[in-house]
Amino acid sequence: MSRNVTIAVAGNPNSGKTSLFNKLTGSNLKVGNWPGVTVEKKEGTVTRGERTFTFVDLPGTYGLSARSIDERIAMDFLTSGSPDAVIVVMDSANFNRNFYLFTLIMEMGLKVIPVLNMSDMATKRGITLHTDRLSAIFGIPFLKTIASKGKGMSGLWRVLDNIENVGLPTHRPVYQAPIETAVARLMEAFPNEAKSRFHALAILDQSLVIPGNEELQGMVAELGAEIEEQLDGELDELIAEKRYAFVYSIAKECVQRKLSTEQKAAVTDRIDRFVTNRYLGGPLFLLAMWVMFFLVFKVGNPFADLIDAGFGALSAMIPGHGLVTSFIQNGLISGVGAILVFVPNIFILFFLIAVMEDSGYLSRAAFVADRVMHALGLHGKSFIPMLLGFGCNIPAIMAVRTLENRKDRVLTAMAIPYMSCSARLPVYLLFAGIFFPRSEATVVFGLYLLGIIIAVIVARVLRRAFFTKAVSPLVMELPAYHVPSLKMATRSATLRTGFFIRKAGTFILGAVIAVWLLASLPAGVPYASAQSLIGHIGSFVAPVFHPAGFGSWQATVALIFGFLAKEVVVGTFGALYGGQAAMTHALAHSFTTLSAASFLVMTLVYIPCVATIAIIRREIGSRWAALSVAISLSTGYLLAVVVFQVGHLLGLG
Ligand code: GDP
Ligand code: MG
Repeated sequence: MSRNVTIAVAGNPNSGKTSLFNKLTGSNLKVGNWPGVTVEKKEGTVTRGERTFTFVDLPGTYGLSARSIDERIAMDFLTSGSPDAVIVVMDSANFNRNFYLFTLIMEMGLKVIPVLNMSDMATKRGITLHTDRLSAIFGIPFLKTIASKGKGMSGLWRVLDNIENVGLPTHRPVYQAPIETAVARLMEAFPNEAKSRFHALAILDQSLVIPGNEELQGMVAELGAEIEEQLDGELDELIAEKRYAFVYSIAKECVQRKLSTEQKAAVTDRIDRFVTNRYLGGPLFLLAMWVMFFLVFKVGNPFADLIDAGFGALSAMIPGHGLVTSFIQNGLISGVGAILVFVPNIFILFFLIAVMEDSGYLSRAAFVADRVMHALGLHGKSFIPMLLGFGCNIPAIMAVRTLENRKDRVLTAMAIPYMSCSARLPVYLLFAGIFFPRSEATVVFGLYLLGIIIAVIVARVLRRAFFTKAVSPLVMELPAYHVPSLKMATRSATLRTGFFIRKAGTFILGAVIAVWLLASLPAGVPYASAQSLIGHIGSFVAPVFHPAGFGSWQATVALIFGFLAKEVVVGTFGALYGGQAAMTHALAHSFTTLSAASFLVMTLVYIPCVATIAIIRREIGSRWAALSVAISLSTGYLLAVVVFQVGHLLGLG
């Protein structure tokens, strides 16, 4: 190649041509007008070694149809200015529109240097351009630049310095056969006019008219008519269609888009139209909850069984029959182990709650609930602490502080204990596994739902009794949906499950030891018999629960100790019956399906637990805490009795 190289800089308006031109030429520029018109012509020269580069900044254009002055100047220069190469500056953030021009210039049979400028903007909008793939497809280097900051210039200079080694693009649009034939015929018959595929196509679709050449006009008219008849379409449209298809196919392969914030917002809107829909929102929330419990069982149970088998094996390894053996077998392994068996289920529950929270769905649930809550005289915002109650009532009641007025705080704190916390789950899991083996998820789902209903009713009644003022409307910002981070969900679930395990190893262990001790005393009685202290306590209170169908002293004692923490209900059964298998067997005999159901309702509703009551007292006062205990005890008992008696009347057991 000669010592003087002319490089045209072409591109869409605002793609950064002038910025790139300035960075390339530094200050050696000459500004004049294009011949014949008053459009600024910028030229600059740069000497590198033996060679002098002349850069020509062409006017910005979208196409080359010669309809505007700018397009005519650009096309004229590219046609007759005989540049050695054309730098096509493209705005990466608008790839398709910019790449269209690249396609046209490429079809001119010119050497092209594609520059994907504004790569910073593209990145910001989540657009990734695979330059390596583009380079491979076209057999020429594609470059990324940020012209305004001069980034990518050295790469561009490397290509420019080796311009003689840059070939012509190896890939191009292909048109329908009759068009291709016409192009070939035009290029052969009129090499001066149809000097490239681009020119031949432009002449053919008459966007380029060459005056005074009758012969050419005649041929174009003839070919055009033939093609339009064969392909049944307008020539210019047929050609443009193929070009756009070409651009799309390249973009599809080489451009990767993450959703922009706006698009995300649009997607969020679309999802929300369903999720927060007046009629669909509620059912969808319930469906989500049901699926959640279904997974808690389906995924969790195999692991729970494994742990169970592990504890069984462990218990069998303990030798002897003494007090210590009894303590380890009945107190530690059967009592605490009975709870730890459910760690996998608990983990999955926490994991799924975290996923729903992180994805933005939980806020929608609150939003959907707002309508219901309003109808019940509660603030929609209350629903978030209430949902937190599914994990543990304690932090949920602490979250009540986020509510603006005392009335809402009190009502929500009073409602939360009925939200079924994870401590109650082991009881459900145990009983549902024994008595409702085929509908475990549905039964547990039903209990959670019942909890919500009771919570709402309690709040409603208390509001009627103690408060009067109207509810302020919910103003809540719904965060955009996003793909939940599994890492985050795992971390959150691990953390909360860890808390559950630690609680089992400390507080609950203490409670189970107390049960074990009371079951072993007075000295000499058979362990966990009706003659033991705990047997006496249980037998004394048991008649109270006869109307509810579960009057065994063991069930009574389990409920009494469950006051410490609901997991202890399971721990007590474990300690009293000894081992998972024995416990399952004993429970299957002392409960019917119906009394199991009433026991589950009782477990759900009665007294939250010592710690929750302490928190209620701290947050809203001891009178409310006392009222909470009174309400939950009486409601739980009444519901359990109703379930059992009505079920009995219906012949269910
Ligand atoms: P032209 O119309 O093609 O000549 O484009 P200009 O060079 O005048 O640039 C248009 C605007 O885009 C100017 O404000 C430039 O500073 C800016 N610009 C040019 N290149 C880049 C780039 O790579 N990144 C960003 N963020 N802005 C750029
Ligand atoms: Mg410019």
